[in-house]
Amino acid sequence: MAVIIDGKEIAAKVREELKEKVDAMVNSEKRRPCLAVILVGEDPASKIYVRNKQRACAEVGIAQELYTLAENVSQESLEYIIDSLAQRSDVDGILLQMPIPQHLDPKRALAHIPAEKDVDAFLPENIGHIMRGDYGFLPCTPAGVIELLHRYGIDPDGKECVVVGRSDIVGKPMAMMLLHENGTVTICHRHTRNLGEHTRRADILVAAAGCAKMITADMVKEGAAVIDVGMNRDGEGRLCGDVDFASVEPKASYITPVPGGVGPMTVAMLMKNTVAAAEKHILKEKKCYEQRG
Ligand code: NDP
Repeated sequence: MAVIIDGKEIAAKVREELKEKVDAMVNSEKRRPCLAVILVGEDPASKIYVRNKQRACAEVGIAQELYTLAENVSQESLEYIIDSLAQRSDVDGILLQMPIPQHLDPKRALAHIPAEKDVDAFLPENIGHIMRGDYGFLPCTPAGVIELLHRYGIDPDGKECVVVGRSDIVGKPMAMMLLHENGTVTICHRHTRNLGEHTRRADILVAAAGCAKMITADMVKEGAAVIDVGMNRDGEGRLCGDVDFASVEPKASYITPVPGGVGPMTVAMLMKNTVAAAEKHILKEKKCYEQRG
């Protein structure tokens, strides 16, 4: 029987700790962190994600601004809004909710977010920092996984870590973070031959492929810690992960459920990045003030 990693509980603790930080910041600096969220179009899933982020902001005490743009907004208008938020000293984080409609170029739009306000850590500059283990902002989902490992005392040091998935926002940064934690890391993808041979070696297995229940018991080593990033719908339309929880759980030492595992941590890490952005902005403003004498 595995320990079920409670992402909901840990995320609530992280929010509580952040709230204390924000309260202290408001008291001492008379300034509240602020996150601006841009939502383009009517995608129902995106609306739910944005609502969850707004709720988390309210709980932590982060001020929030929501910009809802029409589905047919032009690239120029979107970039104009990002530019105006980029210039505002009272906005600490800017988040463009993905996916955006097909006629828009996400890379071009994201490039208008200054690196110090890139709380999703999607910009090349922030991704580059991850390579060097020089963490400013970390992408929220893999950062949430690392936080869960830490809080449950699962140390990747010296362990075989296998990540299934190599996307820019989950798989690749996940692998890099496990490497910095001194894990021996393997990254698997669609071209990987004999996937099970790799996953069966894992002491820590992170599934981030987006394939419902693809990791079955025969692909998991006895006593492995299994982290399920996947968010999929099964045949009956129910939310499920990449791991076949029912068959894998008896074999694992730790396992994250879906829902209630990695998902809540992603939003908690966004809050953490926003508070960190505000702290950096305060420090920068103080330095500027000192330099001016
Ligand atoms: P992408 O589709 O961008 O990437 C999926 C990766 O998995 C690709 O690298 C792909 O390989 C690999 N892959 C897909 N199928 C297989 C397979 N059968 N065998 C081996 N590798 C495979 O997805 P994301 O990284 O954005 O997301 C992954 C999952 O995590 C999704 O279910 C998503 O919904 C979920 N997610 C959950 C979050 C949370 O907060 N819990 C946040 C973000 C994502 P290749 O590169 O060769 O195509």
